[in-house]
Amino acid sequence: MALAAASSAAQQGRIEERFSERASSSILLVYDGQRVEPGLERILLAALERAYADLVRDFGSGPVEKVVVVVYAERDFQTVTHAPSWADGLFDGKVRVPARGITGVTPELLSVLRHEMTHSFVHFRTRGRAPTWLHEGLAQLEEGKAAAPFAPALSSAYAARGTFGLSALEGGFASFSASQARGGYAISLAAAEMLRDTRGFGALAHFLDRLGEGGRVEEAMRAELRADYRRLESDLADWLSRRAR
Ligand SMILES: [Zn+2]
Repeated sequence: MALAAASSAAQQGRIEERFSERASSSILLVYDGQRVEPGLERILLAALERAYADLVRDFGSGPVEKVVVVVYAERDFQTVTHAPSWADGLFDGKVRVPARGITGVTPELLSVLRHEMTHSFVHFRTRGRAPTWLHEGLAQLEEGKAAAPFAPALSSAYAARGTFGLSALEGGFASFSASQARGGYAISLAAAEMLRDTRGFGALAHFLDRLGEGGRVEEAMRAELRADYRRLESDLADWLSRRAR
């Protein structure tokens, strides 16, 4: 879930030096060969390939370089990433996910992999310049989540404060408490879903490209999404009120 700067290279090196690798044309899977059951790495790589193909359909293209996916045993994931306790995956240039015992590709593991792989697509497309709300919103959409369950709570928060505080979610969520993170993820998901529904994924892809050219977030928004933060928030409030009924 979380986005983070790369963590201690020394610590990663110690844990990953015994790892095995398996590559396809678009993905490099790095895994703990002593903990992954024999044959499972092929199933994992095939699942990653399917997720990658789905993302290429939405985004139009994938990263130029292979997406590196590192699968850790649960304990090693915490040691290497120092991820907040609420995170069930991490993207810091590589996709890093913990897997309990790694005995199968569960639906939960698949949705974490789809989520984190979306971060690598967004990161590549924007050259690392995407605001966090856009990263987390698109990642949750690609996971298959929808904002409807959060609509009543988000609508009443907006009614009380007059803002969703979206512009304050451009930076990372890593320092957030679990409840702040939940709120941040819900708003991010709703914003991305509203933009997909009202502007289309094509416009979102152009928005990503525009961000990659280095302009300010709001300039790119005006150019590609017919909105600044104020307009985006009022569109979001309207869109949510239709879902909160
Ligand atoms: Zn995320």
